[in-house]
Amino acid sequence: VKRLTSLLLGCLVLCAARDNPPDVNASVEALREKLLETRRYFHAHPELSNREVETGREIARRLTAMGYTVQEHVAGNGVVATVTGGKPGKLVAYRADIDALPLTEDNGLPFKSVNPGVMHACGHDLHITVALGLAELLMKHRASLHGSVRFIFQPAEEGSPPGEEGGAPLMMKQGVLENPVPVAIYGLHTQPDLPVGDVSFLPGPFMAAADRFKITVTGKGSHGAQPHNGVDAVYVGAQVVNALQSVVSRRNNPARPLVLSVGSFHAGSRFNILAEEAVLEGTLRTLDPEAHLQAPADMARIIDHTCQAHGATCRFENAVLAPVTANDVRLSAWSGPVLEKALGKQHVKTARPAMIAEDFGFFAEKVPGFYLYLGVANDEKHLGGPLHSPRYTADEDALLVGVKAMAALLLAATP
Ligand SMILES: [Zn+2]
Ligand SMILES: [Zn+2]
Repeated sequence: VKRLTSLLLGCLVLCAARDNPPDVNASVEALREKLLETRRYFHAHPELSNREVETGREIARRLTAMGYTVQEHVAGNGVVATVTGGKPGKLVAYRADIDALPLTEDNGLPFKSVNPGVMHACGHDLHITVALGLAELLMKHRASLHGSVRFIFQPAEEGSPPGEEGGAPLMMKQGVLENPVPVAIYGLHTQPDLPVGDVSFLPGPFMAAADRFKITVTGKGSHGAQPHNGVDAVYVGAQVVNALQSVVSRRNNPARPLVLSVGSFHAGSRFNILAEEAVLEGTLRTLDPEAHLQAPADMARIIDHTCQAHGATCRFENAVLAPVTANDVRLSAWSGPVLEKALGKQHVKTARPAMIAEDFGFFAEKVPGFYLYLGVANDEKHLGGPLHSPRYTADEDALLVGVKAMAALLLAATP
């Protein structure tokens, strides 16, 4: 009986320890100055997709200083490092994207970009900082960590330069989700529509699949005064733009959101010459995998027949940039209460689906994914501003919120 009692007691203590991960909020607060320094360093030194040479090197340097064994040059300038906990458990992955955008910063920050024409306008400097903060925190608290966490610092989320591979697909090709396969992958994105202090997420699909398409219309050039001798590629291209609108308005089930936008149309050389060729480029967005298959097929047919009707020929090319990004429903149901406990129920909101895209979707297609939005807006301090804008700013208190939220999930032993 005595032995049974001590066994029971032992179990009670162990089970309590398992259910109650360490309170890391004090450790996160202690990291404040370091998080600010880290964010400002990376913000001042942005690099474009697949050109994140110094960014990757600096991430590796900082991880090494924390005691990590670091794998560098993964999928270009990516960095991978794993912390192994003192308690048995599974492997999970945490992903942060590290690239910046071709924009000239215009927000008066004292630590604004020193690289002309390049800016962290999508908040990836904050993503790097939260991940590094987590890496430091988990290394410190690794005795209470169940299983291990593989940090994935991913280049080229914004898209590789033409003709180059990169981003999440290349990282996966190089095995970042193998040996062993993580049971879950976590990530976040700054959200300027959400006040600092809050996070939000949505179970299931929440960010769109994105395709990039190109249509080349080939007609026959002629004198602008003699249209009957040619086939006007400008006119045919304009008919194609109009006809494509029916893919959304007439072919797609309106209960499934679909966006088709032609963003560029280039043709012609002179006012009195009919263009022989027109090149149109655009993007297709949807939250529905079925619509993602159907829409390009509808487009191909409409483009083909519109061109045929006017005696032109057309070439239609379509490339998938990102699949639908969906949060695993089971993982979301588990994550919600963990986040509410860490941040307070009032700070965990339900996100709305959006037609922007994220290449995190590639990872989340392979293993259960959980991705949240981190609020960075502060109206009183005039911080926020749209993503991908030269005036994008963020309230840096979000860094602490991000680390607290993600530390709570990573320390709570993913089921
Ligand atoms: Zn972006
Ligand atoms: Zn982004």
